[in-house]
Amino acid sequence: MTQYGIFTIANESHQPDKLKSSSSSRNPPTSLTRPIVRSEGQTTMKVLVTGGAGYVGSVVADGLLTAGHQVIVLDNLQQGHRAAVSPTAEFIPADICDPDALSNLFRQSGIDAVMHMAAETVIEFSITDPKRYFVTNVVGGINLLNVMLKHSVHRLIFSSTAAVYGEPHTVPIEETHPMSPINAYGASKLMFEQILEWYGRAYGLKHVSFRYFNAAGATENLGEAHRPETHLIPNVLNAALSKKSVSIFGSDYPTKDGSCIRDYVHVVDIARAHILALEKLDLFNGRAYNLGNQQGYSVIDVIETAKKVTGIDIPAKVSPRRPGDPAVLVASSSLARSELGWKPRFPQLETIIDSAWRWMPEHPGGYGD
Ligand code: UDP
Repeated sequence: MTQYGIFTIANESHQPDKLKSSSSSRNPPTSLTRPIVRSEGQTTMKVLVTGGAGYVGSVVADGLLTAGHQVIVLDNLQQGHRAAVSPTAEFIPADICDPDALSNLFRQSGIDAVMHMAAETVIEFSITDPKRYFVTNVVGGINLLNVMLKHSVHRLIFSSTAAVYGEPHTVPIEETHPMSPINAYGASKLMFEQILEWYGRAYGLKHVSFRYFNAAGATENLGEAHRPETHLIPNVLNAALSKKSVSIFGSDYPTKDGSCIRDYVHVVDIARAHILALEKLDLFNGRAYNLGNQQGYSVIDVIETAKKVTGIDIPAKVSPRRPGDPAVLVASSSLARSELGWKPRFPQLETIIDSAWRWMPEHPGGYGD
């Protein structure tokens, strides 16, 4: 196993033992939330990961299993991959827009908490076809919340996005920055964050939202493979392999080299934040946290770094701007650091790209589905 596959969270929190108890040995409920297993001062839960066959979701599911939790993955496999789901997780092929499937699952499963990652995520398509984004990300999310409440499940961690901010007025972006999305993807995620607030106030839902900046990198077994691939780092690495040019979308942004600047954060570090939040949900209920490395890299920086990592002179060409792209998105993540004790273990762009590059030869064309 490479270093990227390790989910140790030493110095940040305890490391739960492997799950030892069955549901029959659960403690009686003490609060609104379902019972949880406690062994030797440790806490383990049965966690539903929606979208757990997708890029971030599969790594989060893996991290939960490593931390000793039980995992159920629900995914419609539209973007997800069956091969990205660990054999030790239960897999439910279903859609969050199907309330009956959700009801059946919650009726039978004794779920303690939900990590909600199932979503439409491609910014560009959200400009041309916004209805998909509002149906899946808002209506599907409400279906999930209502079924959770019906079955007295009151813990939720939500995958939100830096796209809630729109064009930032100040960089690095703090969580208090005004939110004014410039694409339907960001708007749909912001709506759901707001819905969580109201469900928290009225129904006692405990929730944390993570505003991801640019998730990137891979573990030994799990990496980024979208259909179609639209993301920069996999596109750059595919260009390294195929020798076909990668496009630089826009060279006239108000940035140091005219290309867009983003804050790339290792997917393993994102997963570790989720596990910390699950363990500290009672303390930090209702918060939204940025997840980024507080460091911006332009598209051209990424291509240059990828050239170094791969040793290949990756061809690139300037193309028109892509609709819906803000010029600069760089996080302040000091809130996640101070409250959750989150400290990225792989903050360097070179390390992030290297992990993605190592994953590729073992997974030509992604997961082969
Ligand atoms: N980008 C690019 N060429 C590509 C893919 C992306 O120039 O083939 C740019 C994109 O316009 C954006 C940045 O790279 O400025 C990051 O895009 P990505 O899709 O990876 O993530 P996003 O920021 O859209 O979530």
